[in-house]
Amino acid sequence: MAVIGFIGLGHMGGPMSANLVGAGHSVRGFDLTAETLEAAAGHGVTPAESVADAVRGVDAVITMLPGGKPLLDCYGDVLDAADPGTLLIDSSTVDVTDARKAHELANSAGFDSVDAPVSGGTAGAEAGTLTFMVGAPEEAFRRAEPVLEPMARKVIHCGGAGNGQVTKMCNNLMLGASMIAVGEAFVLGEKLGLSHQALYDVASVSTGQCWSLTTNCPVPGMVPTSRADQDYEPGFAAALMLKDLNLAVSAAEQSGTETEIGRLASEIYQRFNEEGGGGYDFGAVINSIRQRSAG
Ligand code: NAD
Repeated sequence: MAVIGFIGLGHMGGPMSANLVGAGHSVRGFDLTAETLEAAAGHGVTPAESVADAVRGVDAVITMLPGGKPLLDCYGDVLDAADPGTLLIDSSTVDVTDARKAHELANSAGFDSVDAPVSGGTAGAEAGTLTFMVGAPEEAFRRAEPVLEPMARKVIHCGGAGNGQVTKMCNNLMLGASMIAVGEAFVLGEKLGLSHQALYDVASVSTGQCWSLTTNCPVPGMVPTSRADQDYEPGFAAALMLKDLNLAVSAAEQSGTETEIGRLASEIYQRFNEEGGGGYDFGAVINSIRQRSAG
Protein backbone atom coordinates (compact mmCIF):
# COMPACT_ATOMS: atom_id res chain seq x y z
CA MET A 1 0.00 0.00 0.00
CA ALA A 2 1.19 3.50 -0.83
CA VAL A 3 1.66 6.66 1.19
CA ILE A 4 -0.18 9.49 -0.55
CA GLY A 5 -0.09 13.25 0.03
CA PHE A 6 -3.49 14.82 -0.77
CA ILE A 7 -3.80 18.60 -1.22
CA GLY A 8 -7.29 20.12 -1.42
CA LEU A 9 -9.88 18.19 0.61
CA GLY A 10 -13.07 20.00 -0.50
CA HIS A 11 -16.29 18.65 -2.03
CA MET A 12 -14.31 16.33 -4.32
CA GLY A 13 -10.98 15.85 -2.52
CA GLY A 14 -12.70 14.94 0.78
CA PRO A 15 -14.52 11.84 -0.46
CA MET A 16 -11.70 10.93 -2.89
CA SER A 17 -9.18 10.85 -0.03
CA ALA A 18 -11.67 8.80 2.03
CA ASN A 19 -11.76 6.17 -0.72
CA LEU A 20 -7.96 5.99 -0.78
CA VAL A 21 -7.97 5.40 2.99
CA GLY A 22 -10.71 2.79 2.49
CA ALA A 23 -8.47 0.96 -0.01
CA GLY A 24 -5.73 0.70 2.64
CA HIS A 25 -3.47 3.57 1.57
CA SER A 26 -1.98 5.88 4.15
CA VAL A 27 -3.08 9.44 3.27
CA ARG A 28 -1.55 12.67 4.56
CA GLY A 29 -3.88 15.55 3.74
CA PHE A 30 -3.66 19.33 3.69
CA ASP A 31 -6.27 22.02 3.07
CA LEU A 32 -6.28 25.75 3.80
CA THR A 33 -9.63 25.38 5.61
CA ALA A 34 -9.48 23.95 9.14
CA GLU A 35 -13.03 22.45 9.04
CA THR A 36 -12.25 20.64 5.78
CA LEU A 37 -9.09 19.21 7.28
CA GLU A 38 -11.00 18.11 10.39
CA ALA A 39 -13.67 16.42 8.28
CA ALA A 40 -10.95 14.53 6.37
CA ALA A 41 -9.32 13.47 9.65
CA GLY A 42 -12.73 12.03 10.59
CA HIS A 43 -12.45 9.54 7.74
CA GLY A 44 -8.89 8.49 8.45
CA VAL A 45 -6.70 11.09 6.69
CA THR A 46 -3.68 12.19 8.72
CA PRO A 47 -3.84 16.01 8.86
CA ALA A 48 -0.67 17.81 7.76
CA GLU A 49 0.35 21.33 8.78
CA SER A 50 1.38 22.53 5.34
CA VAL A 51 1.73 21.42 1.73
CA ALA A 52 5.39 20.55 2.43
CA ASP A 53 4.41 18.51 5.49
CA ALA A 54 1.81 16.57 3.45
CA VAL A 55 4.15 15.64 0.59
CA ARG A 56 7.42 14.87 2.36
CA GLY A 57 8.24 11.14 2.23
CA VAL A 58 5.17 10.06 0.21
CA ASP A 59 4.99 7.86 -2.91
CA ALA A 60 2.45 10.02 -4.77
CA VAL A 61 0.92 13.48 -4.41
CA ILE A 62 -2.66 14.21 -5.53
CA THR A 63 -3.84 17.80 -5.91
CA MET A 64 -7.58 18.62 -6.10
CA LEU A 65 -7.65 22.43 -6.14
CA PRO A 66 -10.02 25.12 -7.42
CA GLY A 67 -7.91 26.23 -10.39
CA GLY A 68 -4.59 26.77 -12.14
CA LYS A 69 -3.22 29.51 -9.91
CA PRO A 70 -3.56 27.58 -6.63
CA LEU A 71 -2.14 24.53 -8.45
CA LEU A 72 0.99 26.34 -9.67
CA ASP A 73 1.42 28.09 -6.28
CA CYS A 74 1.16 24.74 -4.56
CA TYR A 75 3.61 23.06 -6.94
CA GLY A 76 6.32 25.47 -5.71
CA ASP A 77 6.14 23.84 -2.25
CA VAL A 78 5.51 20.34 -3.61
CA LEU A 79 8.61 20.34 -5.82
CA ASP A 80 10.78 21.66 -2.97
CA ALA A 81 9.57 19.15 -0.38
CA ALA A 82 8.70 15.89 -2.19
CA ASP A 83 11.25 13.06 -2.34
CA PRO A 84 12.85 12.34 -5.73
CA GLY A 85 10.75 9.79 -7.63
CA THR A 86 7.42 10.93 -6.15
CA LEU A 87 4.60 10.72 -8.69
CA LEU A 88 2.60 13.95 -9.06
CA ILE A 89 -1.09 13.64 -10.01
CA ASP A 90 -3.23 16.73 -10.55
CA SER A 91 -6.97 16.03 -10.65
CA SER A 92 -8.12 19.67 -10.51
CA THR A 93 -9.81 21.15 -13.58
CA VAL A 94 -7.42 23.78 -14.93
CA ASP A 95 -6.50 25.59 -18.12
CA VAL A 96 -4.54 23.39 -20.56
CA THR A 97 -1.71 25.95 -20.54
CA ASP A 98 -1.49 25.81 -16.73
CA ALA A 99 -1.62 22.01 -16.81
CA ARG A 100 1.26 21.89 -19.28
CA LYS A 101 3.18 24.43 -17.18
CA ALA A 102 2.71 22.22 -14.10
CA HIS A 103 4.06 19.24 -16.09
CA GLU A 104 7.08 21.27 -17.24
CA LEU A 105 7.87 22.40 -13.67
CA ALA A 106 7.52 18.85 -12.37
CA ASN A 107 9.44 17.17 -15.18
CA SER A 108 12.31 19.65 -15.11
CA ALA A 109 12.62 19.01 -11.35
CA GLY A 110 12.84 15.26 -12.16
CA PHE A 111 9.30 14.17 -11.21
CA ASP A 112 6.86 12.07 -13.26
CA SER A 113 3.55 13.91 -13.52
CA VAL A 114 0.06 13.33 -14.87
CA ASP A 115 -2.95 15.59 -15.35
CA ALA A 116 -5.97 13.52 -14.36
CA PRO A 117 -9.14 15.62 -14.15
CA VAL A 118 -12.36 13.82 -13.34
CA SER A 119 -15.96 13.50 -14.37
CA GLY A 120 -18.71 12.14 -12.13
CA GLY A 121 -19.26 14.94 -9.61
CA THR A 122 -19.48 14.61 -5.85
CA ALA A 123 -21.68 11.51 -6.16
CA GLY A 124 -18.93 9.81 -8.20
CA ALA A 125 -16.28 11.01 -5.75
CA GLU A 126 -18.23 9.50 -2.84
CA ALA A 127 -19.00 6.22 -4.60
CA GLY A 128 -15.47 5.82 -6.01
CA THR A 129 -16.87 5.79 -9.55
CA LEU A 130 -15.15 8.79 -11.12
CA THR A 131 -13.89 8.78 -14.69
CA PHE A 132 -10.27 9.92 -14.77
CA MET A 133 -9.00 11.36 -18.07
CA VAL A 134 -5.26 11.19 -17.98
CA GLY A 135 -2.67 13.19 -19.90
CA ALA A 136 0.85 11.81 -19.49
CA PRO A 137 3.58 9.77 -21.13
CA GLU A 138 2.85 6.01 -21.02
CA GLU A 139 5.16 5.23 -18.09
CA ALA A 140 3.72 7.94 -15.83
CA PHE A 141 0.21 6.77 -16.79
CA ARG A 142 1.06 3.19 -15.78
CA ARG A 143 2.33 4.44 -12.40
CA ALA A 144 -0.79 6.55 -11.82
CA GLU A 145 -3.37 3.88 -12.72
CA PRO A 146 -3.20 1.83 -9.48
CA VAL A 147 -3.22 5.01 -7.35
CA LEU A 148 -6.38 6.28 -9.08
CA GLU A 149 -8.15 2.91 -9.15
CA PRO A 150 -9.87 3.08 -5.67
CA MET A 151 -11.51 6.38 -6.71
CA ALA A 152 -12.43 5.33 -10.23
CA ARG A 153 -14.85 3.46 -12.41
CA LYS A 154 -12.67 4.24 -15.42
CA VAL A 155 -9.13 5.52 -15.91
CA ILE A 156 -8.58 6.51 -19.53
CA HIS A 157 -5.28 7.50 -21.10
CA CYS A 158 -6.05 10.46 -23.39
CA GLY A 159 -2.55 11.16 -24.72
CA GLY A 160 0.39 13.30 -23.66
CA ALA A 161 0.76 16.05 -21.06
CA GLY A 162 -2.33 18.27 -20.84
CA ASN A 163 -4.61 15.99 -22.85
CA GLY A 164 -6.60 15.03 -19.76
CA GLN A 165 -7.58 18.69 -19.40
CA VAL A 166 -8.36 18.97 -23.13
CA THR A 167 -10.73 15.99 -22.76
CA LYS A 168 -12.36 17.39 -19.64
CA MET A 169 -12.94 20.78 -21.25
CA CYS A 170 -14.53 19.21 -24.34
CA ASN A 171 -16.73 16.96 -22.16
CA ASN A 172 -17.93 19.90 -20.06
CA LEU A 173 -18.68 21.99 -23.12
CA MET A 174 -21.14 19.22 -24.07
CA LEU A 175 -22.45 19.03 -20.48
CA GLY A 176 -23.05 22.78 -20.03
CA ALA A 177 -24.77 23.07 -23.39
CA SER A 178 -26.92 19.96 -22.83
CA MET A 179 -28.08 21.16 -19.39
CA ILE A 180 -29.27 24.45 -20.87
CA ALA A 181 -31.03 22.62 -23.72
CA VAL A 182 -32.78 20.25 -21.28
CA GLY A 183 -33.84 23.24 -19.13
CA GLU A 184 -35.19 25.12 -22.16
CA ALA A 185 -37.11 22.05 -23.34
CA PHE A 186 -38.82 21.57 -19.94
CA VAL A 187 -39.76 25.27 -19.69
CA LEU A 188 -41.07 25.28 -23.27
CA GLY A 189 -43.11 22.15 -22.47
CA GLU A 190 -44.50 23.81 -19.31
CA LYS A 191 -45.57 26.88 -21.26
CA LEU A 192 -47.39 24.70 -23.78
CA GLY A 193 -49.14 22.52 -21.20
CA LEU A 194 -46.91 19.42 -21.29
CA SER A 195 -46.30 17.63 -17.98
CA HIS A 196 -42.74 17.17 -16.74
CA GLN A 197 -43.39 13.45 -16.38
CA ALA A 198 -44.58 13.00 -19.96
CA LEU A 199 -41.56 14.82 -21.37
CA TYR A 200 -39.20 12.88 -19.10
CA ASP A 201 -40.78 9.51 -19.92
CA VAL A 202 -40.40 10.10 -23.66
CA ALA A 203 -37.08 11.97 -23.87
CA SER A 204 -35.30 9.62 -21.44
CA VAL A 205 -35.86 6.72 -23.87
CA SER A 206 -35.61 8.80 -27.04
CA THR A 207 -33.01 10.80 -28.91
CA GLY A 208 -33.06 13.65 -26.35
CA GLN A 209 -31.53 11.27 -23.77
CA CYS A 210 -28.40 12.60 -22.02
CA TRP A 211 -26.79 12.76 -18.55
CA SER A 212 -28.30 16.20 -17.91
CA LEU A 213 -31.73 14.57 -18.30
CA THR A 214 -31.45 11.07 -16.87
CA THR A 215 -28.95 11.56 -14.02
CA ASN A 216 -29.21 15.22 -13.07
CA CYS A 217 -32.62 16.24 -14.44
CA PRO A 218 -33.08 19.98 -13.69
CA VAL A 219 -36.74 19.37 -12.78
CA PRO A 220 -37.28 17.81 -9.33
CA GLY A 221 -39.16 14.54 -8.91
CA MET A 222 -37.95 12.85 -12.10
CA VAL A 223 -34.81 11.00 -11.03
CA PRO A 224 -33.55 10.49 -7.46
CA THR A 225 -29.88 11.21 -8.28
CA SER A 226 -30.69 14.76 -9.37
CA ARG A 227 -29.54 17.71 -7.29
CA ALA A 228 -32.87 19.36 -8.18
CA ASP A 229 -34.35 16.95 -5.64
CA GLN A 230 -32.06 18.47 -2.98
CA ASP A 231 -32.93 22.12 -3.58
CA TYR A 232 -30.10 22.36 -6.13
CA GLU A 233 -27.39 21.91 -3.48
CA PRO A 234 -24.29 21.14 -5.57
CA GLY A 235 -23.34 18.66 -6.94
CA PHE A 236 -21.46 20.59 -9.48
CA ALA A 237 -21.80 24.28 -8.74
CA ALA A 238 -22.83 26.69 -11.51
CA ALA A 239 -19.69 28.73 -10.69
CA LEU A 240 -17.54 25.70 -11.59
CA MET A 241 -19.52 25.10 -14.78
CA LEU A 242 -18.86 28.72 -15.76
CA LYS A 243 -15.16 28.22 -15.03
CA ASP A 244 -15.05 25.13 -17.28
CA LEU A 245 -16.98 26.78 -20.11
CA ASN A 246 -14.67 29.78 -19.96
CA LEU A 247 -11.68 27.43 -20.23
CA ALA A 248 -13.26 25.88 -23.34
CA VAL A 249 -14.08 29.26 -24.90
CA SER A 250 -10.59 30.61 -24.33
CA ALA A 251 -8.99 27.41 -25.71
CA ALA A 252 -11.33 27.65 -28.74
CA GLU A 253 -10.25 31.24 -29.32
CA GLN A 254 -6.58 30.37 -29.00
CA SER A 255 -6.87 27.43 -31.38
CA GLY A 256 -9.17 29.18 -33.88
CA THR A 257 -12.05 26.74 -33.25
CA GLU A 258 -15.62 27.90 -33.92
CA THR A 259 -17.64 26.91 -30.81
CA GLU A 260 -20.74 29.10 -30.99
CA ILE A 261 -22.87 26.97 -28.67
CA GLY A 262 -20.02 26.82 -26.14
CA ARG A 263 -19.72 30.61 -26.18
CA LEU A 264 -23.47 31.06 -25.76
CA ALA A 265 -23.52 28.51 -22.91
CA SER A 266 -20.74 30.42 -21.13
CA GLU A 267 -22.73 33.68 -21.52
CA ILE A 268 -25.85 32.03 -20.09
CA TYR A 269 -23.91 30.66 -17.10
CA GLN A 270 -22.16 34.05 -16.68
CA ARG A 271 -25.59 35.71 -16.40
CA PHE A 272 -26.85 33.00 -14.03
CA ASN A 273 -23.79 33.55 -11.80
CA GLU A 274 -24.43 37.32 -11.83
CA GLU A 275 -28.04 36.64 -10.79
CA GLY A 276 -26.67 34.87 -7.70
CA GLY A 277 -26.86 31.28 -8.97
CA GLY A 278 -23.15 30.42 -8.70
CA GLY A 279 -23.46 28.45 -5.46
CA TYR A 280 -26.32 26.27 -6.71
CA ASP A 281 -26.01 23.13 -8.78
CA PHE A 282 -25.57 23.99 -12.46
CA GLY A 283 -28.98 22.39 -13.18
CA ALA A 284 -30.61 25.33 -11.36
CA VAL A 285 -30.06 27.34 -14.55
CA ILE A 286 -33.58 26.11 -15.45
CA ASN A 287 -34.98 28.53 -12.84
CA SER A 288 -33.35 31.45 -14.63
CA ILE A 289 -34.77 30.24 -17.96
CA ARG A 290 -38.24 29.93 -16.35
CA GLN A 291 -37.99 33.37 -14.79
CA ARG A 292 -37.01 34.95 -18.10
CA SER A 293 -39.91 33.15 -19.76
CA ALA A 294 -42.51 34.37 -17.25
CA GLY A 295 -45.25 36.72 -18.40
P1 NAD B 1 -13.80 22.88 -3.37
O1 NAD B 1 -13.73 24.36 -3.39
O2 NAD B 1 -14.87 22.21 -2.58
O3 NAD B 1 -12.39 22.28 -2.85
C1 NAD B 1 -11.14 22.85 -3.13
C2 NAD B 1 -10.36 22.84 -1.83
O4 NAD B 1 -9.03 23.28 -2.09
C3 NAD B 1 -10.94 23.79 -0.77
O5 NAD B 1 -11.25 23.04 0.39
C4 NAD B 1 -9.83 24.81 -0.53
O6 NAD B 1 -9.73 25.22 0.82
C5 NAD B 1 -8.61 24.00 -0.96
N1 NAD B 1 -7.46 24.81 -1.32
C6 NAD B 1 -7.41 25.89 -2.15
N2 NAD B 1 -6.14 26.33 -2.28
C7 NAD B 1 -5.37 25.52 -1.51
C8 NAD B 1 -3.98 25.44 -1.23
N3 NAD B 1 -3.12 26.31 -1.76
N4 NAD B 1 -3.54 24.47 -0.39
C9 NAD B 1 -4.42 23.59 0.13
N5 NAD B 1 -5.75 23.59 -0.09
C10 NAD B 1 -6.21 24.55 -0.91
O7 NAD B 1 -13.86 22.41 -4.89
P2 NAD B 1 -14.29 20.98 -5.45
O8 NAD B 1 -15.71 21.00 -5.83
O9 NAD B 1 -13.75 19.92 -4.54
O10 NAD B 1 -13.47 21.00 -6.85
C11 NAD B 1 -12.08 20.76 -6.88
C12 NAD B 1 -11.64 20.66 -8.33
O11 NAD B 1 -12.35 19.58 -8.96
C13 NAD B 1 -11.97 21.92 -9.16
O12 NAD B 1 -10.89 22.15 -10.03
C14 NAD B 1 -13.24 21.54 -9.90
O13 NAD B 1 -13.38 22.25 -11.12
C15 NAD B 1 -13.02 20.05 -10.11
N6 NAD B 1 -14.26 19.27 -10.25
C16 NAD B 1 -15.30 19.46 -9.41
C17 NAD B 1 -16.45 18.69 -9.57
C18 NAD B 1 -17.64 18.86 -8.64
O14 NAD B 1 -18.69 18.26 -8.93
N7 NAD B 1 -17.53 19.59 -7.55
C19 NAD B 1 -16.52 17.72 -10.58
C20 NAD B 1 -15.42 17.53 -11.40
C21 NAD B 1 -14.28 18.31 -11.23
